[in-house]
Amino acid sequence: MLKHTPNEVTERSALRINPAKTCQPIGAMYAALGIHRCLPYSHGSQGCCSYHRSHLTRHFKEPVMAATSSFTEGASVFGGQPNLLQGLNTVFTTYNPDVVAVHTTCLSETIGDDIPQIVGEAKRQELIPEGKHVFHASTPSYVGSHVVGFANMCTAMANYFAVEIKDTKRKSTDKVQVNIAPGFVDPSDMRELRRLAEGTGLKVTMFPDTSGVMDAPQTGQHIFYPEGGTTVEELQNLGRGVATLGLGWWASREAAIAVEKKAYVPREILDLPIGIGATDRFMAKLQFRGGELTHELENERGRLVDLMVDTQQHFHGKKVAIFGDPDHVLALTEFARDLGMIPVHVLTGTPGKRFVSEAERILGPKAGNIKVEGDLFTLHQWIKAEPVDLLLGNTYGKYIARAEDIPFVRVGWPILDRVGHGLMPTVGYTGAVRLLVKMIDALLDRRDRDSVDHEFELVL
Ligand code: SF4
Repeated sequence: MLKHTPNEVTERSALRINPAKTCQPIGAMYAALGIHRCLPYSHGSQGCCSYHRSHLTRHFKEPVMAATSSFTEGASVFGGQPNLLQGLNTVFTTYNPDVVAVHTTCLSETIGDDIPQIVGEAKRQELIPEGKHVFHASTPSYVGSHVVGFANMCTAMANYFAVEIKDTKRKSTDKVQVNIAPGFVDPSDMRELRRLAEGTGLKVTMFPDTSGVMDAPQTGQHIFYPEGGTTVEELQNLGRGVATLGLGWWASREAAIAVEKKAYVPREILDLPIGIGATDRFMAKLQFRGGELTHELENERGRLVDLMVDTQQHFHGKKVAIFGDPDHVLALTEFARDLGMIPVHVLTGTPGKRFVSEAERILGPKAGNIKVEGDLFTLHQWIKAEPVDLLLGNTYGKYIARAEDIPFVRVGWPILDRVGHGLMPTVGYTGAVRLLVKMIDALLDRRDRDSVDHEFELVL
């Protein structure tokens, strides 16, 4: 399908071909789903909301509940205030959420709807029942990406709920609370981050937390608001944390800063804990904040190290191309380097100049092609010029993998053509083991396929 991609790379400034990102409201909707009994609300046209819901469903294989202002031509010209007022009224009378998280779209941003003013008007008209919450994030899709939309919604929830708590005295039996902004990761990753942090003896407030929402168990009954998600009470108690760990500079930094500004809880911005180095730094920070590294956690790490040693001969010197969301790509690049691989092409579609400097820092003198705000057309051209042994990225990489006959490991978001990925974490030591096994399987499957008979080994 990509046989017409030319080898020669030409500079393009006004055209993206197969961008390595999607639009802001998808990330905002996913973040909002991580609040318990929250209904995401898309202030724009029905088509946007349908696309965002269905795209999330394609990855998580779960139904996604969200409301929309259902703009028509009239709202597009005269503004969407009547639609949002009527929408809020309908949502609270029909679906009874505790929280409505409004995000904007290209259209409502372009016409300039003032959401705080409209929400104020809804309160004046008593459309928002006592004890219910409505907050909003601005998510224009012509800037940023789904990661930026996720970050904007996380920041908005911190700004809305976090308050300074002056009486933070704990009884001697109370656990120390740490807040975690987990980044744009799967529900299983959020569950794994919580397990690791709670395993050190800390109390964890994770915001958002889509575990139990986007991987809710099949019970035979449709539950509109599943059990999972960060509760309003937890969000209002963010101020009790001794620190907020923002995992991923792009997805979580601004939210951690917002908690610091609103609730005077110090922030720590860390890499997404994918791979051994980033997980070590995460665990060290938990230890610094009062957690205890147990023998079992040390054993988990030890098993990963053992596997890395056992497989180093297969990874050593192998070239890899990595693309996707910036926090994922940087963490994967570091992990690939630690395995002995050479990441020769590293690309993200999300803006942020820090990406290039961080990738260069990780790779040092071996740094190859690195691009921010890149597209998959460019990645394909790079691979044609310098072939790789392995491709790491989301589902959209399958076209390049097929065109160039490269082993391909799906990691990140979205994964639309395989199932079960959302149930197994890639973060932490256990996640790194799983990722490593997928990578080594892909490499050895290829070796078996290409081996001539006398080199086709039983034991590898
Ligand atoms: S890019 Fe804009 S118009 Fe298109 S789906 Fe996203 S929000 Fe809607």
